[in-house]
Parts: sequence; C-alpha cells; structure tokens
Amino acid sequence: MGQLKEKSQQLSTITQMAAGVAHEIKNPLTAIKGFLQIGAVNPDLRDNYYEIILDEVNRIESIVQDFMMLSKPKSSIQLEKIDIEEVVSYVLRLLDPEATGKNVDLSFTCDIVEKSFESEPKRLKQILLNLASNAIDATEEDGDIRVAAYNKGDELVLSVKDDGQGLSDQQLAKLGEPFFTTKEKGTGLGVMVTKKMVTDLNGTIAYQSELGKGTCVTVCLPY
Ligand code: ADP
Ligand code: MG
Repeated sequence: MGQLKEKSQQLSTITQMAAGVAHEIKNPLTAIKGFLQIGAVNPDLRDNYYEIILDEVNRIESIVQDFMMLSKPKSSIQLEKIDIEEVVSYVLRLLDPEATGKNVDLSFTCDIVEKSFESEPKRLKQILLNLASNAIDATEEDGDIRVAAYNKGDELVLSVKDDGQGLSDQQLAKLGEPFFTTKEKGTGLGVMVTKKMVTDLNGTIAYQSELGKGTCVTVCLPY
C-alpha cells in the first residue's frame, strides 16, 4: 500500500512538473510568436522587439538547461581531484561583471586544511554559480557578499552570505519548489537544481535568512 501511494505521489509530482514546464516555456514562446508576427507586418517595428525576443529565447534556454541538469542521474557523476580555491575563484570571476555592475563587493576566503578534495567540477561550479547569482540578485547596490570555504569536522563547507533582502518564513518554505520565483525574469528553478546537485554529491544544504537583513546558504560536502 505504502509503495503504491508513493508511486502515485511521484506520478502526480511528475505531472505537475510537466505542466509547469510546458506553461513556463509556452509563455515566452507566445510572446516571441506575437512579436515576430507584428514584425512581419510592420518591418519598421522589428528593432523595438528584437531585445525582448532575445530575452525570451534566453529564458527558454535557461529553463531547458536547468531541466537537463535535473534529469542527469547521480550515476553520471565523475569525481576528480579538485582545487577548491581555484574552482570557487573561477565561478566568482564569471560573476564579476554582474557584481561590478551593482557595485557589490564579492569576496572569497579560503581556509582549507585538508586539501585533497574530490568532487565533480561541473556540478560544484553550477551549485556555486546558482548560489552566488541569487545572492547578487538579492543584494542592493553597494552590498556585500562573502563566500567562504573551510573545513568543519571531516566535511568541506562552502558558504555564501549576503546582506540583501532576505526571505520571509513563507518564502523560505517555498524555496526549492519548481517555478517559485520573486523575480520578474526568474525561472524559479535554480534552488531546486542546486538542492538536487548537492544531494547527488552526498552533501547537505541549509538556508538561514532574515527578511531585510540577508541570507546565508551553507553547503556541506563529504571528503
Ligand atoms: P530565480 O533565481 O530564477 O528566481 P531560484 O530558484 O534561484 O530562481 O530562486 C528562487 C527564489 O528564491 C528567488 O526568486 C528569491 O525570491 C529566493 N532566493 C534565493 N536565494 C536568495 C537569496 N540569497 N536572498 C533572497 N532571496 C533568495
Ligand atoms: Mg536563481
């Protein structure tokens, strides 16, 4: 009985997700189609819509990318020796233009005693990218984001702390649900994908947040 219930629960989650994905992709597609139709009739207006069309295409691309990440089985993980300082610095460099644009101070402290860490660079980078990019989004102009890597017990801890807008208890409860977003251009898939990847790497993830004060996300990964 229990197993049957679990199966039907799984099925309903899959159905909801499929409906959600279809909906999230259909919206930008409808917009793109509409603007292309107007442009076909009024060539003079094409330039006005070019940027919106590109935005909407980018949106579809990121939704599809996130879903491809979700469908990757844990067995596809390929562990490698990782220099954590190098990986984190690489990801933060990618976000530099975004942070600089907002005058956000993005700093990184690496205090690792046990250096022989094995993980999968692809997932690890994606986790950090998602966390740091959410931190930048949540941070006001001139804010601070502190990224840290350190050892705690026999685990590697990665933390991303911002002094941005924070999350209410209701928002915290919804975090990781597919398509939960408070952003105009958000997909609401980043946290869900991040949680899945941390679990794939046998790690844990915890959010601590206070509305108006900021958020600290802590990821613990086993050696
Ligand atoms: P998206 O970034 O596309 O909105 P995510 O799944 O990455 O989707 O995040 C979902 C929501 O969680 C965000 O829209 C935001 O409301 C909230 N959130 C995530 N990280 C933070 C953070 N560091 N500070 C404040 N809110 C956050
Ligand atoms: Mg995000």
